[in-house]
Amino acid sequence: MRKKAVAVAPLEMDTVRLVRPSLPPLSEFQSLIKGIWDNRFLTNSGPLHARLEAALSRYLGAPHVSLVSNATLGAIAAMRVLGQVRPSANPHASEVITTPFSFVATSNAIRMAGFEPVFADIDPQSLNLCPEAVERAITPATRAIMAVHAFGVPCDVDALGAIARKYGLPLIYDAAHGFGVRHRGQALATFGDFSVLSFHATKVFNTFEGGAVICPNAASKAAIDKFCNHGIEDAEEIAFAGFNGKLSELHAAAGLAQLPYVDEDIAARGIVARRYADAFAGIAGIRCILSEGVDRHNHYAFPVLVEEGYGLDAAALADAMAEAGIITRRYFHPLISDMSVYRNVPSSDPAGLPVARQVSERVLCLPLYPDLPVEEQERVIDV
Ligand SMILES: *Cc1c(COP(=O)(O)O)cnc(C)c1O
Repeated sequence: MRKKAVAVAPLEMDTVRLVRPSLPPLSEFQSLIKGIWDNRFLTNSGPLHARLEAALSRYLGAPHVSLVSNATLGAIAAMRVLGQVRPSANPHASEVITTPFSFVATSNAIRMAGFEPVFADIDPQSLNLCPEAVERAITPATRAIMAVHAFGVPCDVDALGAIARKYGLPLIYDAAHGFGVRHRGQALATFGDFSVLSFHATKVFNTFEGGAVICPNAASKAAIDKFCNHGIEDAEEIAFAGFNGKLSELHAAAGLAQLPYVDEDIAARGIVARRYADAFAGIAGIRCILSEGVDRHNHYAFPVLVEEGYGLDAAALADAMAEAGIITRRYFHPLISDMSVYRNVPSSDPAGLPVARQVSERVLCLPLYPDLPVEEQERVIDV
């Protein structure tokens, strides 16, 4: 039952939490809420929704931002509108190449959109899809590529982009971890045909629940917006079946109040991450996953790989930390391809995913949030 002990360690006074969501000053949230009470716009693209879309467009340098109620629905919407945005040469193409080293929502979204995931192996440095493995997995049945910037570390966007162009395949990024990352002079969320951001409570920028799809042009944004509003064309016409994936005014208010603080939060996360990295630099068998070569990392998480020279494996280290009142998470373990819903997919065969398997056995995420007190962090480092 060691797994349970780690997952549900009680939140006692001296427990070090894994994450602690950021919140803006309550008064700033309240003044936005006051506006909702005055104008009685609660949802359906109200004024706060419009303001948040515009603010995010500016922040990300992305003209076509579509707010959605969460990233999972955003990813489903992106895949469901592919036919309108990027028709496929093969009308029966049903496979989406993706990574097994992610949160299960990535593959769930593929399946809920009506496609099947095909798992390709990852790169041992970035922990993201290996471009050569993606290319090897392409068949006439391939409909799209869904890559994940795990822990906000950028995928090899050049190589993946080149493969997508070469085979005429849409490239979608699950950028749930990537808010605030800047790469090659632009926001990480602006790469690919679509990038999907999550504004869930545990992410770098949150609206409690929420997300956005970063679209390549006005037509694709309109397609996402329509899909997330039941497919409604106008008062009388529904051209295709959509769902309700809208973000309410309350969530938009949370985002507007939060956004001015996100850069400070990222800087504070960076200080915490730097202290960990310095403390672990001389420890044999602990490899930190740092994002080298980005213009700005967001320090969404602090994953380490517990390698052979350390003496304990990742599971045992997680147990030792739990005993010391420190909550860690074996994220992502197990691989999505090892979960019973996806185990029967042919590409789930462990023989084809050796790197992902090894990384998943070794990875451990340490507590990281902007206001993690130094004394608490020292306790983590001491263990
Ligand atoms: C959080 C997360 C999601 C899902 O985001 P929601 O907004 O909660 O739907 C998808 N992919 C990854 C990698 C995530 O971490």
